[in-house]
Amino acid sequence: MKAQERSSRAKPVVAYIGLGSNQGDSDNILTNTITELAQVKGCQHLHTSSFYKSAPVDIPDDLVDQPDFLNAVIALEVTLSPLDLLGEMARLEKKMGRSRGPDSIRYGPRPLDLDLLLFGSEVIDLEQLTVPHPRIYQRRFVLEPLLEIAPDISIPGQGKAAYLLLDCCCQRVDRL
Ligand code: AMP
Repeated sequence: MKAQERSSRAKPVVAYIGLGSNQGDSDNILTNTITELAQVKGCQHLHTSSFYKSAPVDIPDDLVDQPDFLNAVIALEVTLSPLDLLGEMARLEKKMGRSRGPDSIRYGPRPLDLDLLLFGSEVIDLEQLTVPHPRIYQRRFVLEPLLEIAPDISIPGQGKAAYLLLDCCCQRVDRL
């Protein structure tokens, strides 16, 4: 890992984080998580999308029978490094009850899932962090709230998010 990946940066970057929950009081969990992320040192809250209800996608057949997700996307202006931001996200997932132990089910219901979608226009390819998030452009539950708060946004290497959304508009996603 390079030193610059850990250090904070003088020039702020806009980071977009996707939030999802389909276990517990999802509305409360997302609301509290957004409040907590806005209070992290080195993070300034810019925008929050509406909440969306979405059908689970990319779930193995034996786990497909699980509740719909509540999703949102937030924009933060950050001076943290990407890995430090990822660390804060993991801390909040744990705080909201997410288990990553040997008994946790990889694609099972979860109280909180946080994905670092975009970090400015940076492309990051580390063992523990890939940005842009590798499945961002295939998921309506990410693209739709992202476009709500950043209508002109482009995904590095993929193009305009508005065009990418056209390819996944058959996925069930309802804005609340
Ligand atoms: P998941 O179980 O889907 O929440 O995956 C979390 C794991 O994916 C963590 O161990 C992260 O290190 C890794 N990961 C890689 N890229 C990202 C990203 N862009 N956002 C969130 N987690 C990521």
